[in-house]
Amino acid sequence: MAPCHLGSCWSSDPGAGVLTSGDQPTVDFSFTEDQKLFAESVRRWADDKLAPGALARAHDPHFPFDVAKMAAEQGLLGITIPEADGGQGGTLMDAVIAIEQVAAACPRSADVIQAGNFGPIRTFAEYATDDQKARFLPDLLAGRNSISLGMSEPDAGSAATELRTTARLDDDHYVVDGSKVFGTHSAEASLYLIYLRFGPGLDGIGSMLIERGTPGFTVGSPSRFLNGEEWSTLYFENCRVPQANLLLGPGGFKKQIAAFNAERIGNTARSLAVGTYAFERAKEHATTRRQFGKALCEFQGLQWKFADMALKLEGARLLLYRAAINADRGLPTAYETTLAKLACNQAGFDVANEAIQIMGGTGFSEESLVEYCMRRCRGWMIAGGSIEMMKNRLAEEVFDRRFSQRPPRAAQA
Ligand SMILES: Cc1cc2nc3c(=O)[nH]c(=O)nc-3n(C[C@H](O)[C@H](O)[C@H](O)COP(=O)(O)OP(=O)(O)OC[C@H]3O[C@@H](n4cnc5c(N)ncnc54)[C@H](O)[C@@H]3O)c2cc1C
Repeated sequence: MAPCHLGSCWSSDPGAGVLTSGDQPTVDFSFTEDQKLFAESVRRWADDKLAPGALARAHDPHFPFDVAKMAAEQGLLGITIPEADGGQGGTLMDAVIAIEQVAAACPRSADVIQAGNFGPIRTFAEYATDDQKARFLPDLLAGRNSISLGMSEPDAGSAATELRTTARLDDDHYVVDGSKVFGTHSAEASLYLIYLRFGPGLDGIGSMLIERGTPGFTVGSPSRFLNGEEWSTLYFENCRVPQANLLLGPGGFKKQIAAFNAERIGNTARSLAVGTYAFERAKEHATTRRQFGKALCEFQGLQWKFADMALKLEGARLLLYRAAINADRGLPTAYETTLAKLACNQAGFDVANEAIQIMGGTGFSEESLVEYCMRRCRGWMIAGGSIEMMKNRLAEEVFDRRFSQRPPRAAQA
């Protein structure tokens, strides 16, 4: 029988039975006082410092390092990284709250919270040696540098384990050959967390830290996604990387994916937050814009759109919070991350798309930010494990068995 996840997620005691009188319920849907205060203070700061430049930032393909430096000063980078490593020692839920509050004022600035808390920096902080942390974390946590993840390759997208970029040991260096595509911030990062093949099969995969400027490493000219972000192909030709830059050697793939679930929560949280931003703009518009002598919100055809949008956002938010709260400072489970990512990616896109419809020509215009929200949410349905791959994963949980996506071995030969 398939394992039941639902009961254990909501209760601190998985063995707990039906509540009897006098039992205290273990489900609490409210923020703690500390979380409320944190959310309010981040929101005040974001409204003050980030909201004024939100439109310009959305249309600038460059990473907003100015925002990153300000966010660092506010303690909003490295929220889940231990204080001993220069982080804030907070929880994954704190980082989710930060993304939501920043995005509510400036959707593009939520990328800074992602980069400083959920992205490859999280995998780095989890597995890096003390020497690696000392060399790279201070600049990343101060918002001076950024790190980009190189997993996808021209022939290895959803089938990530088919990656072909190789690393072979030669004296005290690894020699890296191959290429990477689509990396977020790849056009301007200074450090790259690159998934590599040290040998055959799943157990042959690991990762290294490769600095921009390493001989044999070329960052190609930027291409642009529909969401406005730029990415560059990364080329490695006889690129010699010091052994001291090894993050996870062969056999490290499962660990990397475990940490990658935290990155997925950032993708998930931004989808929800950016969808919510579009929802709020559509609500304001429907309240103030008048046609046929009435405010738009008085037409039932639009009221039902808002009811559907609210339902999608609220349901998705519960799944996101569950995944984050259960993870605490650790890493979220694959199951809860998958459910949350699916729900938030779809809700964010559907809501932003519907917000454009509600706002008509204003929503479709580049002056509204709502069309930007739709474009951003569209990308997260592909990035970090596509909607289809997440559904494959979920189906395996439902049936409690693995469904291979590959042809039988004989057919591959
Ligand atoms: C905005 C954005 C940011 C990104 N950031 C990064 C990054 O920082 N680092 C990085 O390494 N990569 C990044 N990527 C790349 C991303 O991880 C890949 O695009 C993704 O894994 C899909 O791979 P692909 O594009 O090669 O599509 P393919 O794998 O070729 O898939 C094409 C389509 O087929 C579907 N499909 C494939 N296999 C199956 C299957 N078994 N069952 C059902 N459907 C299937 C997919 O869902 C998709 O719809 C980013 C992509 C985007 C869009």
